[in-house]
Amino acid sequence: MLTDTHCHLYWNKFDADRAEVIQRAVDAGVTRMLVPGVDIKTSREAIQLTERYEQVYAAVGFHPTDLDDWNASSIENLRDLLPSPSPVLGRGARGEGGSKIVAIGEIGLDHYWVKEEAKRAFQREKLKAQLALAQEVGLPVVIHMREEKDAWFGSASEQLLAILSEWSAGLKSKGHPLAERPGVLHSFNGTLETAQKAIAMNFFIGVTGPVTYKTAEQKRAIISQLPATRLLIETDAPFLAPVPHRGKRNEPAFVGEIADKIAEVKSISKEEVAAVTTQNAARLFLW
Ligand SMILES: [Zn+2]
Repeated sequence: MLTDTHCHLYWNKFDADRAEVIQRAVDAGVTRMLVPGVDIKTSREAIQLTERYEQVYAAVGFHPTDLDDWNASSIENLRDLLPSPSPVLGRGARGEGGSKIVAIGEIGLDHYWVKEEAKRAFQREKLKAQLALAQEVGLPVVIHMREEKDAWFGSASEQLLAILSEWSAGLKSKGHPLAERPGVLHSFNGTLETAQKAIAMNFFIGVTGPVTYKTAEQKRAIISQLPATRLLIETDAPFLAPVPHRGKRNEPAFVGEIADKIAEVKSISKEEVAAVTTQNAARLFLW
C-alpha cells in the first residue's frame, strides 16, 4: 500500500490519458493521491478530480509563484471551495461524513523564481493569510519552499521557519488540533537543521524523486537521519520523475521508486516504508 501525497493530476500533460495514469497508480498499490491546487482554477480542477476518482483527494491554495491572480476576494474564494459547513475542526476528513478536501496548499515561499524583495514580501503576506485560513477551517497545510539557486539554506528557509514558528506557537497556545498535525514541507530541499526544526513543530517532511538522483548524496544523508514516522513520499507529478524515469513525465505509479530509495537509505524494507508513510499521510490528512 502506497500513498502519493503530492501530484498535480489536473496538469494538461495528463489530459490525454488521465484515467489510465490513475489506474496504473492503483495497479501499483497507490491507494490515495493528494492533488494540490496552485490557484483558484486548479484548486477547482483538483476538487473535480476527487469527484471522479475514489483514490483522489484535494488541497486548495495559491502557490507562491502563482499569485498573479490574487485579489481582495481570494481568501473568500478559497473558503467558498470548502464544503459548507467547513470541515469541522479535528474531525476525520472523510470517515465522519467530511470532505475530500483535506488541506490548504500548495502555499509557501519561492525565492528561486522570485527575486524582487517586494514580490517576496507579497508571498510572505499571502502565505500568512492562507495559514490563517487553514487555522480557521482546521485543515493542515502543504508547504512549498525553494531557495534562490536551489541552495540548501537561505532567506526562504529562514523566513519560512519564522512564519511557521509563529503560527505553530499560536496553534499551541490555543490548544488548536492543528498543533499536532500542522502540515508537510513538500519536496523538502533544505538542511538537516531546518528539517529538525520543522519536525519539532510536528510537521512532516515530503520526499520526492530527486532523492533517487546519483548526485543526491547530501539529501540521502539528511533523510537517513530523520525518523521514518515523519516522512511522506510524493511524486510532484508531472515533474521530478525518479530514476529510472528521470527526464520523462512523472506519474503517481512511480512513487514506489521513492519508497525503494528511502528503504535503501534507512536499511528497512520497502514494505515498511510504504506502510509507515501511508500511516503518516493518514495521521496528517485524517483520511
Ligand atoms: Zn507541487
